[in-house]
Amino acid sequence: MMRHVEFVETFFRRLKDPAAYWAEPSSEILENRMKCTCCGYFTVEGISSICPVCFWQKDVYQETHIDDDGGPNNVSLLEAMENYKSMGAVEEGFIKNVRPPRQDELISRI
Ligand SMILES: [Zn+2]
Repeated sequence: MMRHVEFVETFFRRLKDPAAYWAEPSSEILENRMKCTCCGYFTVEGISSICPVCFWQKDVYQETHIDDDGGPNNVSLLEAMENYKSMGAVEEGFIKNVRPPRQDELISRI
C-alpha cells in the first residue's frame, strides 16, 4: 500500500514548512473532515475537535508552532507525531482512548 509512504512524505513536508502545509488547497479535506495534522487520517470534524485515532486536539497555534507545548495539547506537535509513531497516541495516557482508523478515514483525494 502507498499509505505509509504518503504519510512519511507528508510528515517531512510539515516539519520543513508547516505554514505552507496549511496553505495547501482542499486536497487535505475529505467531505466534511479534515486531515489530522498529527496522524494524517481524515478524522477532524471541527476546529478544536480531538482526533479519535491519535488524540491530538486540533489547534491552530500549536500546528503553526510545531515545537511549542503551550496549548490544549500537553505535548508539542513534533512530540505528538513522534509519540504517535512509537506508541500509537500523542501521549502514553491516551493510548486507552484511541482507536484504529476506519477505512473511510484513509481515503485521500490527492
Ligand atoms: Zn490524529
